[in-house]
Order: sequence, then C-alpha cells, then structure tokens
Amino acid sequence: MPTKEQVLQRVIDSGALPTLSTVASKLINITGKEETTIYDITKLIAQDVSLSTKILKVVNSSFYNFPNEVGTIQQAVAILGTNAVRSLVLSFSFLNMERPQHGQGFNYERFWEESLAAAVASKLIMARVSDQDPEEVFTVSLLQNLGKLILACAYRDTYDLLLEEAAGSEKRLLELEDERIGANHAYIGGEAAKHWNFPDSLAIPIACHHDPDSYSGDDPELKTEIRVVHLAALVANILYSGNPIDYHAPFRERAKKMFKLETRSIDEILEQANIEVAKAADYFGLNIEGTASIPELLQKANIELSLLNMSYEQMNRELVEAKMQLEKLTTELEEKNNYLEGIANLDGLTEIYNHRFFQEFLDKEISRTVRLENQLSLILTDIDNFKKFNDFYGHQAGDYVLREVARLCGGLIREYDLLARYGGEEFVFVFPETGETDALTIAEKIRTAIEQHPFSYAGDDYRVTSSFGLAVFDGKAKPIKKSELIERADKAMYAAKKKGRNRVEAYAEKSGWFGKSK
Ligand code: GH3
Ligand code: MG
Ligand code: MG
Repeated sequence: MPTKEQVLQRVIDSGALPTLSTVASKLINITGKEETTIYDITKLIAQDVSLSTKILKVVNSSFYNFPNEVGTIQQAVAILGTNAVRSLVLSFSFLNMERPQHGQGFNYERFWEESLAAAVASKLIMARVSDQDPEEVFTVSLLQNLGKLILACAYRDTYDLLLEEAAGSEKRLLELEDERIGANHAYIGGEAAKHWNFPDSLAIPIACHHDPDSYSGDDPELKTEIRVVHLAALVANILYSGNPIDYHAPFRERAKKMFKLETRSIDEILEQANIEVAKAADYFGLNIEGTASIPELLQKANIELSLLNMSYEQMNRELVEAKMQLEKLTTELEEKNNYLEGIANLDGLTEIYNHRFFQEFLDKEISRTVRLENQLSLILTDIDNFKKFNDFYGHQAGDYVLREVARLCGGLIREYDLLARYGGEEFVFVFPETGETDALTIAEKIRTAIEQHPFSYAGDDYRVTSSFGLAVFDGKAKPIKKSELIERADKAMYAAKKKGRNRVEAYAEKSGWFGKSK
C-alpha cells in the first residue's frame, strides 16, 4: 500500500488535479500579499468580462440582499471585502470548470449539486452561530469534497467500486479510500488546496471537514469555520445520500453540542436548505435537479423504514387495519354529513322541517302532481291571537305551544305528507295526491285536535286555536305557479281569520275568493 504522500504524487503526476482559471490563481496569489489594493483586484477581475458579469449578478441577487445596486467590481470588492470576492471567484471557477475525465460511477452533476448544497447550508449555519464572514465557509464547503472528484479522475474504475461499496455512507467511503487507495479524499482535497496556494482559511477546513477535532491549531475563527463546514456536509448528506435518517440525528446533536444551536434554528436550517440550494444554483448558473425538503425526505424515509421492518403478515395486518380505519372514518363522515344535512333542513325550535325544505318539497311535489295528473292540497295554519298569548303568558310558554302544536300535528298526518314551520306561529301542510274534500276533512281533524288539546306548561293549563287556509293544485287544470298556490292558501287563511278564527277556509276561484268553511 503506498503512503498518502505517494498517492498524492501519483495524483499530481496523472494530471487529475483540475487547473485553476488564470484569474483565480492570480487572485489567490495577490490577495496573499499585503501591498495588494482594491484597485489591483478590480483590474484583475475586470480582465475576464464574463466572470465580472457573473459576479455582479450574484452580488446583486437576493443571495446578498444589498439594499442598493452594486454597479461595478470595484464597489463589489469594497462592499464584500477581498476574501469574499476571492471566494466568489473561486466558486465560479470551479462551478464552471470543464468536465474532467472521471470514472463512470461518479456522477459529476450530482457532485456539484451536493457541493453547492453543502455550501448553501454552511451559509445558513454560519448566519446563526457567528457574525464571521460566511463567504469563506461557502467556498470551503463547495470545495470540501473536491478530493472525491480528483480521486474519481485519478483512479477511475477503482474509485467506481469504492463508491458502489460505500453505498452513500461518507464514513465508509473514507475508510475504503484509506484501505484501498492509501489516502482519503479529505487529505487529497486539502493537499490540492495547498497546491493551488489557497490560504489556510480555505485549505485547512477542507482537510479537516470530516473530523473537526483533528484541527489542532488555536485560531478560533478557523475552528468555527471547520465546525460549520462539518455540519453543512451533514446537511448535504441528509439531502443527497439517500439515507437521510442516518445523518439527521448526528446533525442535530452536533449542532447543539458545537454551537448550542436551538431546536428552532436547527429546524429553520433544515426546512430552508433545499429552497436555498435551488436559488443559489440559479445565481451561479448551475442546472440542478433539486430535492424535496428535508422534513419531507425524513418523513418518507421513516415510512419506508417502518415498512421494511415489518414481516409480510405484519404488513398485511397493518394494511387491513389501516383500511378498516379508513372505512370507519368514511362511515362516520357520511353519518355526520347526513346529520348535518338533516339539521340544516330542520327548524331549531320545533324540530319539524323548516321553510327552505318546504319550498324544495313543494317544487318536487308540484312536478309530480303535473306528471301524474293528480291533485295536491296545501294548507297554511296560523295560531290565533298568539301575540296576546305571548304577552299574557310569556315567550317561553309561547315557544312551548309552538313545539306542542308541531308535535300534535306531526302525529296526525300520513307518511308522505309534509308538515313544516312556515315562519313565526304559522305552519304549512302539503298533502300529495289529495283533493279538496279529503284535505278539508284532514284540516278539520287537525283544527279540532288543537282546539281540544290541553296545553300544560310549568303547572299552568292553556287552550289554543288556529285558523286554516286551503288551496288545491290540480295537475290537470291550467297550471299555476308555486307562489300563486301559496298565496291562495294564505288568502283563504286570512278569510278564516276574518270570519272569526278557529276555522278552515278553502280558496275557490269560481266564488270569487273563498269557498266552503266548517
Ligand atoms: P292572529 O290571530 O291574527 O294571527 O293574531 P296573532 O297575534 O297570532 O298574530 P300576529 O301576527 O299579530 O302575532 C304573531 C305573534 O307570534 C307575534 C310573535 O310574538 C309570535 N311569535 C312568532 N314567532 C314566535 C316564536 O318563535 N316564539 C314565540 N313564543 N312567539 C312567536
Ligand atoms: Mg301570523
Ligand atoms: Mg297568529
């Protein structure tokens, strides 16, 4: 097995290290020197027109949220600072680099998508743990796994096998790299960064991203950076590894332990990650597939896990159970709907049908009467002197009488007849397939029943009478409108009142207004 230094040498010799763009490498060079001015940096970047345009586009996007438009690279450098601009230039030069020759098992697009996710996550995390410049962690996170790309180019088929064997586990991949190649991607990435003369603030976190404790220096900012990059890598793993559950708990635990992050902040990061990744891809001109949100990914994974852990019988049982539960819910819902529909048709006080239901019922019955060339009788009844009754005995006694009249009348009609509260102290009856003679008999029966009924409420006895008006709809005669029919019954009832109350009157066309009475 070669030493890791030997592996590194082989990698360099094989030409698997990507070449930095001219602007990027010069920029790294001059930003390391103290005498460098904003003007030098501006002049360098301005050489590459397309890069300048891209940088200005990102700087002016909601990625930064600056209140005023940043119009020139010079302004950008002045506002963002040298390090941030350097990071941006590096990000661009890697995201737009030419695709190198790599093994078939290595998914190049996916690699950058995942790297971008880590970069975005590191910004989200940094914003919550420190006011340190988030640009550096963005770049470090973006490049933390560059070692993978380099190894995939240098060891094509071998690396394909490792990727397959690791099956999405980062930890396993690192072990396999050490075992089979002799160096892991964190080491190779860190060394590549040194090779390109990256400053320590970028190179060290790349080398330590898997094991934050391996940083032995005492720079607190660097320590924070390394930890943020480490956490961000876990977020990218939750999103892209295919095993979100494996990385979720470690992320929460370590975020709490390393930075005392509160549950709410952690949830925010997890909820926003996939959306922010999509936005960043847009700003950087990267075409990505994107993922569902982390809460959704976790929910799906948990359901799959619970199914996986079940035996066939168990799964069957659960399915049967779930189906039964569903059917039970459906029945309950139907019952509730029926109940609601039922009470929507009823009058609250008397619990007989209400006015609306009466109107619908009458519509249908009129059509049926026309179709069958039959007759239908409509009777309106209005309690006599009810205002006085209320005034005398009180509203509650009045309510009781209304309920009692409804109950009494309900007991006197046939199954297909309708009794409804027309309004106030007025009730209405619809008698399908009933002509005037029969209707008058029924009305008379009801009138007598009310007149003779002993109403007793709260220890007192009352007598009540009611006046009735009848109108007949004849399916064979010239059709009249529903409203006309009701009006006729009302007129007949008014006549009954006029003739002394407690009586039945029928509307009669021929005799002008009213026909027979009791
Ligand atoms: P008439 O014999 O001419 O029908 O006289 P009336 O007093 O019955 O008629 P009017 O239309 O003047 O008064 C109807 C009364 O019915 C007035 C109102 O207080 C009473 N009323 C209407 N709805 C209700 C109700 O829900 N509860 C009670 N307690 N009284 C009601
Ligand atoms: Mg009235
Ligand atoms: Mg009345």
